[in-house]
Amino acid sequence: MNGAQREVPVERPEPKRLERLRRRLREEGYEALLVTNPYNRRYLTGFTGSSGYVLVTESRQILLSDFRYRTQAGFEAPDVEFVEHAARAEETIGECLRSLGVTRLAIEAESVTVADLRKYEAAWPGVQLEPVEGLVAALRAVKDDVELAVIREAARLADRTFDHLLGWIRPGLTEREVAIEIEMFLRRHGASSSSFDTIVASGERSALPHGVATDRRLGVGEFVKLDFGAYYRGYCSDLTRTIVLGKPTDRQRELYAVVLEAQETCLRGIRPGMTGREADALARDVIRRYGYEELFGHGTGHGIGLEIHEAPRLSPTSESVLAAGMTVTVEPGIYVPGFGGVRIEDDVVLTAGGAETLTAAPKQLISV
Ligand code: ZN
Ligand code: ZN
Repeated sequence: MNGAQREVPVERPEPKRLERLRRRLREEGYEALLVTNPYNRRYLTGFTGSSGYVLVTESRQILLSDFRYRTQAGFEAPDVEFVEHAARAEETIGECLRSLGVTRLAIEAESVTVADLRKYEAAWPGVQLEPVEGLVAALRAVKDDVELAVIREAARLADRTFDHLLGWIRPGLTEREVAIEIEMFLRRHGASSSSFDTIVASGERSALPHGVATDRRLGVGEFVKLDFGAYYRGYCSDLTRTIVLGKPTDRQRELYAVVLEAQETCLRGIRPGMTGREADALARDVIRRYGYEELFGHGTGHGIGLEIHEAPRLSPTSESVLAAGMTVTVEPGIYVPGFGGVRIEDDVVLTAGGAETLTAAPKQLISV
């Protein structure tokens, strides 16, 4: 089978990911980890199937999945030991645990349901289960070069989509028509899908932070908030721009200028060593200074990667410490009920001395 025949190429994971995970397991005193989160599974093995488990010990990494994925696993994760599990996966996992002599097993607290836990406890009587939180997520937060290259491409694709849209969008179209155009452009140029439900919120609806597209028609003089991204080779980009259809009013200009100042202040100031709370405050303090604090009710940003929202969070409650190699969004907004809202969002990678912005779509208030 030839890799070039695949529609969406799959990145082979860097061996360092497994090394970093094993180091963490040693540090935390776990002898083995059962990975059940699908993104973590893909991150560690390269396997993209919809179902499966990864069992990691100090010396072994076993991918378990069912018959449907036997061939695909060999193709996507050729270096990973594959075990086809029985209809009851926990029985096969139990056999692996016994043959490996695992008596204490870390499990992923965020992705194991209460029903799963009951099943595991019944199937593996001699194994002590230890729920852990955010173990692989913490590794995933810092991107390796393979990942950064793909995220750069995903960001570029979002920029190109916005550029296309500026020449296409006009009053009279419905929000839904705009969303479809965005999604078609993304897919036609290499995305496997959009990275989340496309937000097109016009007029008063632009005051809805997550206003997904409706049948509302775009009117002259209105704000249109566009928030979308590419899901490209397994990685997400996330871009928001707010434009005006026609000539902006003074009030629109003022609102836009405050959000832009907040966003650029954060882009300039964010750097490794800060907490997510401190990075959030860079943008929030500007918005507070202009008296709009009550109208900015969400966090300043979030990690992007295999998932559209991942670690770290930039919010007033985030104590995560930022590190070089993390990819996050910076997206302050102000939402005025009954009038409209503005959000400006870029994707950045944290570098040794600050941050490099990956999205490059223009940011002056654009009227089309
Ligand atoms: Zn967004
Ligand atoms: Zn975002």
